[in-house]
Amino acid sequence: IHVSVSSGEIGLRAKALIHQKLLNDKLRDTVRDGLHAAVTDPLTGLFNRRYVEPHLARIATQALAAQREFAVMILDIDHFKQFNDTYGHLFGDTVIKGLSKRLQSACRDGINAYRFGGEEFALIVPNKSIRIARQYAETLRRAIEKLSIKDRRSGKQVGNITASFGVAELEHGQSPESIIEQADKLLYEAKQLGRNRVMPL
Ligand code: GH3
Ligand code: MG
Ligand code: MG
Repeated sequence: IHVSVSSGEIGLRAKALIHQKLLNDKLRDTVRDGLHAAVTDPLTGLFNRRYVEPHLARIATQALAAQREFAVMILDIDHFKQFNDTYGHLFGDTVIKGLSKRLQSACRDGINAYRFGGEEFALIVPNKSIRIARQYAETLRRAIEKLSIKDRRSGKQVGNITASFGVAELEHGQSPESIIEQADKLLYEAKQLGRNRVMPL
């Protein structure tokens, strides 16, 4: 078939295609931004629980297949409701931010921190035994006790926070989700035993 198209026509079609491509690019960026927002906690910038759960399942499965060690810790600020009641929710927010900064600074060797819930965080510790992960947790526990919590105007230390930890490792034959359940159970035990501690001991 012979089709003849004028150069003017080609120019118009090219323009329309370019326009469509720009619209598609914009749409793709919007979708990407929306997905990112859905899995990111706006206060701390950390990925949230919606991100961690499938992510954890993925890397736990890989670790099991490759027979690599793998640990998870969950930490929860102690008596934080009381802290908010004393110092105000906004001040509580800045403390959560400060804590997340401290957790982020512990993120090396493949360790990653996530905001798991309100005043609850999770750290994934790949390629480490539970013994090493517990040592990390203990270091963090001490650092949290010493976090500077200062009044903005006076610059004086006004209070302090502590946190309780549950640490679990992935065992063979275990489902990836059960490592979270295990860490959660140990966190609960740490609370029961008086808080500001890492379980298992
Ligand atoms: P426990 O030691 O048993 O964990 O006591 P708790 O008071 O920390 O626990 P509880 O679950 O009773 O209360 C959690 C509190 O954490 C209540 C809620 O106001 C506070 N919280 C959760 N998310 C945020 C947040 O984003 N900002 C602030 N300021 N507070 C938060
Ligand atoms: Mg708490
Ligand atoms: Mg909690």
